[in-house]
Amino acid sequence: MKLIVVTGGVISGVGKGIATASIAKILKEYGFSVTCIKIDPYINYDAGTLRPTEHGEVWVTEDGGEIDQDLGNYERFLNQDIPKKNNITTGQIYKTIIDRERNGEYLGETVQFIPHVPDEIKKRILDAGKGFEFVVLEIGGTVGDYENIPFLFAAKSLQIEMGRENVANVLVSYVPVPPNIGEMKSKPTQHSIRLLNENGIDVDFVLCRAIAPIDDVRKRKIGLYANIVSENIISAPDVKSIYEVPLNFEKEKLGEKLMKRLGAKKRKEPDWTAWQKLTDRILNPKKRIDVAIVGKYVDIGNYELADSYISVNQSLDHAGAYAGAGINIHWVDSKKLENVANTAVLRNYSGIIVPGGFGSSGIEGKINAIRFARENNIPYLGLCYGLQLAVVEFARNVCGMKAHTTEVDPETEDPVIAVLESQKKILQERHYGGTMRLGSYAAALKPSMILELYRKTGRLGRDMKKLSLIKDDFRIGNVKGDTVVLERHRHRYEVNPSYIAKLEAKGLSFPGFHETKEGTKLMEFIEIPKHKFFAATQAHPEFKSRLEDPSPLFCGFVEACMKK
Ligand code: GLN
Repeated sequence: MKLIVVTGGVISGVGKGIATASIAKILKEYGFSVTCIKIDPYINYDAGTLRPTEHGEVWVTEDGGEIDQDLGNYERFLNQDIPKKNNITTGQIYKTIIDRERNGEYLGETVQFIPHVPDEIKKRILDAGKGFEFVVLEIGGTVGDYENIPFLFAAKSLQIEMGRENVANVLVSYVPVPPNIGEMKSKPTQHSIRLLNENGIDVDFVLCRAIAPIDDVRKRKIGLYANIVSENIISAPDVKSIYEVPLNFEKEKLGEKLMKRLGAKKRKEPDWTAWQKLTDRILNPKKRIDVAIVGKYVDIGNYELADSYISVNQSLDHAGAYAGAGINIHWVDSKKLENVANTAVLRNYSGIIVPGGFGSSGIEGKINAIRFARENNIPYLGLCYGLQLAVVEFARNVCGMKAHTTEVDPETEDPVIAVLESQKKILQERHYGGTMRLGSYAAALKPSMILELYRKTGRLGRDMKKLSLIKDDFRIGNVKGDTVVLERHRHRYEVNPSYIAKLEAKGLSFPGFHETKEGTKLMEFIEIPKHKFFAATQAHPEFKSRLEDPSPLFCGFVEACMKK
């Protein structure tokens, strides 16, 4: 196993995640088996309880992990599943050590920072990397942060154990151009390199994030001050699409340089044709469509931010590249749609999405938006909460019920969305994120528009092949047949089975469901066959969308928007 350690300098949010994913993608293109690991130095055990506006979206893995969003970038670039064990946090390290100590497993030893903490870190890195030729390890945070130190220590220690020749250190740094100076300044990068040196890490490569490519003069300067050959100072200018990043790195032969540094010989010639073509389609689309995402906005200090939906944005780009349209995303604050008169603005869009969400804020606005889409034949895609609220809307305005989700109104007369008692018990017994349904679940699809989308995009075939690889059998449940698909979940509430017949009688169809081992049927999809495109899922298909394997529902949605 060869290890590439990626750290970040100067500022947070410098793009380490994309750089890590790009390095991994490049090595995969040269024919190696590659995985990525993300270290998050925070004390949270995982990202499940993190506020999205503070830390970005919570990513869900196939095996039910609630993880930092960088794992999403790894999957989108590598087009391979990354399991939850590939996200290591300070919280996990300390919890394991303290649990072990409480169990008497240290046999009276004093449990100390050194060696116990770095040992646990190393064990987890090696475990996640087992079976792969290359592991790209991203250490979160910025060099110089206190909380980074244990991980840098572990990285150094791995370097000694594995041999310097098998470990390469990459710094992703920021090279600012202060407007009043008008020149690219390399000093902060030099200082980051020095900070790494102080932790025993010699930098082999510097990826220089900046508004423009870094010139040879500055490359030489950084190289000279940091004692690095200047060919290994690589430009990483701002890009319009993240998918350009590996292509840009390859222009500077980063892949070959890394292989040379680590004594690896390429297994095949890389072929970037398909990737380049898809990226070009994102950058220069023949047509553009306007999509409204109706979500909630949150105040953070002086800023009002849209709840984070990176994967939804990415999925739209992937589907756009597939269907041949560029997507202009418009954020519509659902609170503003609480007054029905305001929903008329939605006429300006080719399609409407209601993404996942929790709680009551802006709920009636989302329901109004869904009603507008349904009544005006505007393409609608609902994701998780977007399915639940579409069911509420249909129950209210088509079936005349006094319906709601019990998440918002526990006393509602018609609880069309509710926590199913049987489901609650099962989830609790599994100790899987308390009472949340998390990770991938199989759904059997009936003949429907949605099934056709899964077939047409090839996803049905790929999911059918994957079924036998699923380790947790509760993810398959009693689902059988040859039209089974897999999507990831993160929610507590479900469609109440006692209302299905009534809703179906009025034209809402439920073309796919999961059946638990215990026999509970959980509705996974809805569609309105008479509508131009009205589809929603209880799952989060945005977590399985990749540039090279776009989500069937997003593809169908974008194609419908293009026709509008
Ligand atoms: N709040 C809803 C639930 O918990 C939907 C969650 C989501 O959209 N991820 O069921």
